[in-house]
Amino acid sequence: MRRVFEGVAPVEKPLFQNRTAHLYRSGFGMGYYQHLQSSSNQAIGGKRHMQTEAKDADLAALLLKINECLVPLWPDAKPLLHYGTCFELLCSVILSAQCTDEQVNAVTPFLFKKYPSAEEMAQAKVEDVENIIHSVGFFHTKSKNLVATAQKISLTYGGSVPSTMGELLSLPGVGRKTANLVLSACFGTPGIIVDTHVMRVACRLGISRKKDPALIEALIRQNLEPDKYTAFSHALNRHGKYVCTARKPACRLDGGSCPLEEFCPQLGLDSRS
Ligand code: SF4
Repeated sequence: MRRVFEGVAPVEKPLFQNRTAHLYRSGFGMGYYQHLQSSSNQAIGGKRHMQTEAKDADLAALLLKINECLVPLWPDAKPLLHYGTCFELLCSVILSAQCTDEQVNAVTPFLFKKYPSAEEMAQAKVEDVENIIHSVGFFHTKSKNLVATAQKISLTYGGSVPSTMGELLSLPGVGRKTANLVLSACFGTPGIIVDTHVMRVACRLGISRKKDPALIEALIRQNLEPDKYTAFSHALNRHGKYVCTARKPACRLDGGSCPLEEFCPQLGLDSRS
């Protein structure tokens, strides 16, 4: 019996198994996928990648197709982290590095009850924060970053989380993923949130050849309309978390289904037997 994943419409498996013919029939042509197989995207340190305009057009078409398939399936474009204020979201995303949203959501009720604002967390002892968040990974570094970030918000930004990318990146423990999530969820700024799920799926789908968050963000930013950034990011995150999982992507499960299988090149996966 075909397995249907929660929130995912079942799709019919393609009748043909040849991957190349499959991609031609999907309407994308082979230009972008041939490009991925013959060269690397060059974007070390956030520098612009080397792709021609024609290849960018193919990538834009791919991104649009993925967006059209996934966003209707995952329309609730919100963080899975539990929060009530922008400061709480910022703290939660700092805590989420190298651990799951569920692990973070288990400790933050206690953290936010004791330190409900930046001003109060700025006064905290790092050891006291450690005692509350010790079940998440890297709790010592994260505790230091939480207190230091709260102190900077209190002293420099009047107790309010700042609303620009540059200001957010100046806070300890805040990288582009965190900044994009806070900007999109709290300030309505379109954000491309490249977490571990988005990175993995982007490579399998052929958006990027490299597992490089800065590169993936740049490729999406250059080839998708800004008003689609946030919903696209959340949909790709849910797809990676629940369907195209690290160990058992749906297309490799007996009876599994993936709404992108018709055109996904499945890069990096073992070929089917
Ligand atoms: S077809 Fe497979 S590799 Fe491609 S997105 Fe779906 S589950 Fe992931």
